[in-house]
Amino acid sequence: MHDIRILIVEDEKKIADSLKQGLTENSFQAEVAYDGVMGWKLFRNQSFDLVILDINLPGMNGYELCKAIRSANAAVPVVMLTAMSAVDDKIEGFDAGADDYIIKPFDFRELLVRIRALLKRIHTTVATGTLLKAGDLVMNLDSKEVTRNEQTISLTAKEFQLLEYLLRNKNRVVSRADIALQVWDIDFDTRTNVIDVYVNYLRKKIDKGFDEPLIHTHVGMGYVLKDKS
Ligand code: CA
Repeated sequence: MHDIRILIVEDEKKIADSLKQGLTENSFQAEVAYDGVMGWKLFRNQSFDLVILDINLPGMNGYELCKAIRSANAAVPVVMLTAMSAVDDKIEGFDAGADDYIIKPFDFRELLVRIRALLKRIHTTVATGTLLKAGDLVMNLDSKEVTRNEQTISLTAKEFQLLEYLLRNKNRVVSRADIALQVWDIDFDTRTNVIDVYVNYLRKKIDKGFDEPLIHTHVGMGYVLKDKS
């Protein structure tokens, strides 16, 4: 495997530098940007396998930067760091295209586990190299391309993972708890509606404007992606 390069965007120098040191000690290559504009500049000019992003940043905040990163590269995993723990902030982060969330102050070992899980998921997906299909929807696990009726659909990394999970469980009802565990690696927390929010994003992209919806809601049970209605 090539050297994994991680971009850290964090204006608190102490946190940024200790993150860089910790990552370097764990055999990652890490670059630090102390503000959002510099982070964006580094991201555009170099290639990174993962981005760790603070939310409150001078210049360009973490949400804005995350959206910019997503529009440039849908697949790179983004982990957001925040001192705020409110559910709304998490949803705003996921909305901006973040893949995971860490609340400050955080345990470095926990961050490391999350980083490895995100990187592993990306690499495992590439290795399997198959097409997943449902009706006229096709997901290519190698190229990360999703098409429906031969139209290309652009998905964020998280939307891609959610759709992949639904496709792998085609015609089977999956609960929100299953989705939370398999796609987000978290225990289902009934206070968050992040899964419903994401299923809606996905619906807008893969079902809106097509005759046959693929994603169906089973009230009180969960969701199912069906070949045919
Ligand atoms: Ca900050």
